[in-house]
Amino acid sequence: MIRYTLTCPDQHEFEAWFSNGDAFETQRADGLLSCPVCGSTDIDRALMAPAISTSRRKENRLSAGDASADARGDADDAPRLAANVPEPTAAPKEVINALRKLREHVTKNADYVGKKFAEEARKIHYEEAEKRGIYGEATKEDVRALAEEGIEFHPLPTLPEDKN
Ligand SMILES: [Zn+2]
Repeated sequence: MIRYTLTCPDQHEFEAWFSNGDAFETQRADGLLSCPVCGSTDIDRALMAPAISTSRRKENRLSAGDASADARGDADDAPRLAANVPEPTAAPKEVINALRKLREHVTKNADYVGKKFAEEARKIHYEEAEKRGIYGEATKEDVRALAEEGIEFHPLPTLPEDKN
């Protein structure tokens, strides 16, 4: 399967999966592809953006949001992460409020473990510690290792007030 980013003449972009490049050409020629926004069947492939892994994006965003980190040596390698925290029940309308509530939810329902995040997440994953929500900091290496071990975690959202 390959994923193409497609555009219509109005520059609406959308993504679609095809079994191969020929399948895309055939479906396009048959008018089977249409823009989900305007319905145009005049579809073409968009220019490809470079592939960026999700974890790389997270790392960049998290370290970029913490300007004071450089002064603390390896702290710029320390995105805040959470694991095993139950999903919030209500979805607030406004995005910042939603993120703030998510963070409050995490900090209320999870134990802060600081730089031991990776160690604790691993213990919980391998059932060497009580299953509970935790949050804390981890290095890029920790993040990569946890992901490779299949341990679930999420970056905590950065809020506007964090940048003050
Ligand atoms: Zn369109």
